[in-house]
Amino acid sequence: MKVLVYSIHNFDKPYLEKASRGKHEFVYTELPLNEQTAGMATGFNAVALLSSDSANASVLQKLNKCGIRFIALRSVGHDHVDLHVASELNIKVANVPGYSPYSVAEHGVALLMALNRKLIEANRLFQKNDFRLDTLVGFDLHGKTVGIVGTGKIGSVFARIMYGFGCQILGYDILENEALKKEIKIQYVKLNELCNRADVICIACPLNENTRHLFNKKLFGEMKKGAYLINIGRGGIVNTVDLIEALENGIVGAAGLDVYENEKPLYFYDRRNMEIKDEIFLKLRSMPNVLMTAHQAFLTREALQGIASVTVQNLDEWQSTGFSRNDLN
Ligand code: NAD
Repeated sequence: MKVLVYSIHNFDKPYLEKASRGKHEFVYTELPLNEQTAGMATGFNAVALLSSDSANASVLQKLNKCGIRFIALRSVGHDHVDLHVASELNIKVANVPGYSPYSVAEHGVALLMALNRKLIEANRLFQKNDFRLDTLVGFDLHGKTVGIVGTGKIGSVFARIMYGFGCQILGYDILENEALKKEIKIQYVKLNELCNRADVICIACPLNENTRHLFNKKLFGEMKKGAYLINIGRGGIVNTVDLIEALENGIVGAAGLDVYENEKPLYFYDRRNMEIKDEIFLKLRSMPNVLMTAHQAFLTREALQGIASVTVQNLDEWQSTGFSRNDLN
């Protein structure tokens, strides 16, 4: 297949080339897919997208006019594609489910540990020969209650790690994870109860019409004062303005955020020469009890290998049968 790979970066290109072994003709562009760049897909059978690309209704219409029949997502999440419109246009979309959930969950743990043990501040002081410890007091995770919202592949890995730390695990999901229940002690509760009881909350569910701004002023009001919030799901699950208020009021003690609701115009590119005008982003980033990363939770060698090989497998299957085992529509 002739595939236009949007949003290519140095971190994933070698993995895609290795996985393809010349079976498909990949053409790469660093540009993201959007209204302006959709026309570049003329003459290709498929496009391959990252979560920073945008395949909304009008972009899909443009891809359709270019003759695109397949969209291979290099991600688990598919909130950046209008699946309904893709189906109407007879464009197949497939994702990469279940590539190393460890990569994402472990990054969530890294954010939590760095925040709790004040590692960023400790390193800053250390570099200045200031070896005082007064501002660096953390807490034992052992014995604390950790609530996980979305106990699928990523959430269940996070749960197992926290269980290993000696935490009590609460879960909230529309579907209980039976396998996880057999492995560790987890209590499924309603979301407000999870918020009432948890010292640490980790968001690991997808962004959809039911989860957009699930974490808002009302839910923050249910949280145990000073609880830590980790978001490794999608930025849009949290109302950022409400989160800032909850951080200022001490309701949320600290936030570790790999994702941000308006990250698209920012993340994955060098913005050093651009003036960032997003006041909400600037405010959030400046808060001492916030640690943000630019959607890098998936960034391990194993995950990149998995993403590349399943992306190529999806293309292989489409080429031979017109269907892939990971079709979303
Ligand atoms: P998964 O499908 O295995 O698990 C998602 C879980 O969320 C499921 O158990 C599902 O039942 C649950 N869920 C769905 N709707 C819900 C709701 N309304 N309330 C509570 N739970 C709900 O997916 P996964 O592989 O664990 O990935 C989860 C999400 O993590 C993805 O959708 C993606 O958005 C995000 N993600 C982020 C990164 C990153 O780099 N930060 C990387 C991969 C995935």
